[in-house]
Amino acid sequence: MTADIKTPFIIEKIKESKLPKADFSNLVFGQMFSDHMLVADFFDGKWQTPKIMPYQALPYEPSAKVFHYGQAVFEGMKAYKDSKGNVFLFRPEENFNRMNNSAERLGMPAIPKDIFMNGIKELVKMDKDWIPTGNGESLYIRPVYIATENAVAASPSNAYRFMVMTSPAGKYYVGDVKVKVEDKYSRACDGGVGYAKAAGNYAAQFYPTEKAKEEGFQQIIWTDSAEHKYLEEAGTMNIFFRIGDKLLTAPTIPDSTRILPGVTRKSIIKLAQDNGVPVEVRPIEVKEVIEAAKNGELKEIFGAGTAATVLPITGIKYKDFYTDLKKPADSYADRFKNMLMDIQYNRAEDPYGWRYPVQ
Ligand SMILES: *Cc1c(COP(=O)(O)O)cnc(C)c1O
Repeated sequence: MTADIKTPFIIEKIKESKLPKADFSNLVFGQMFSDHMLVADFFDGKWQTPKIMPYQALPYEPSAKVFHYGQAVFEGMKAYKDSKGNVFLFRPEENFNRMNNSAERLGMPAIPKDIFMNGIKELVKMDKDWIPTGNGESLYIRPVYIATENAVAASPSNAYRFMVMTSPAGKYYVGDVKVKVEDKYSRACDGGVGYAKAAGNYAAQFYPTEKAKEEGFQQIIWTDSAEHKYLEEAGTMNIFFRIGDKLLTAPTIPDSTRILPGVTRKSIIKLAQDNGVPVEVRPIEVKEVIEAAKNGELKEIFGAGTAATVLPITGIKYKDFYTDLKKPADSYADRFKNMLMDIQYNRAEDPYGWRYPVQ
């Protein structure tokens, strides 16, 4: 419909927008969805014409493979509006590439770039009035890709659907985030699917995380499955440790197949390096961090991911050891969160070309 779109997208507009009835005063993450969604089906060995249509329920049979074998991957990204009403995505090609890496690992066909990039751009443009403009607010974008063949044999599906929905997101607010270093359960193993945003990875986290919550911890930091010796990542966040003035974070693909390669993580590593903060990307022993905590060198721990951007950790437990973490005056978490958000919201120069205008 516009010059941008190469694939002929079918566009079916909602008859009556839900926007006038939407309550933006108390946004709960991921509960309200905007007017439209993007849908692209793969069957008969090829991608069919994608469609943007009103957000609605799906027409699948109980036998659809996704329900039985979890052949499903997803993504998470955001659209930001600046003070003049211009809309930007943040490094969307990273999400596109990662989604296809995830899809490949789950035996699913690659999504064409045109469908992903132009589809999301057009969807966000159509629903741009759903982007909240308060401090730290954005439109959360959730692509999801599922196996839709109606057949219960445990083999790859011959039909798939790629969909994108969007949801107005408030400023990420949480109180304390105390973490428990997990030394029994695992989320990923070498050669597994930890590096993919595969749906089942998250289901597998729920039970151990609920147990940690009962003990008073909001999140788990996973350790390697072989020895429970190295710190990996948390729920949907990569983790940074500041020891002295150095930042440490665990390696991702190709050095580790267990950890999700976050776009926020990658961006923070770049910002830190370019701002004179030494960064070490390497396996981090639990022992090393606990020793640093005991001798006062552990200055801060923070999570990094699209939903929260940067999330300071307020306490850490490992076996019988526990310590509170107080945010230092020169907090790296605050510093890199502000730098990232200034780029995302078009309040600062973008020397890296990370902002992606939607117009
Ligand atoms: C999505 C995700 C992240 C963060 O990735 P971003 O691209 O920064 O949002 C980190 N870890 C896991 C397990 C994730 O699912």
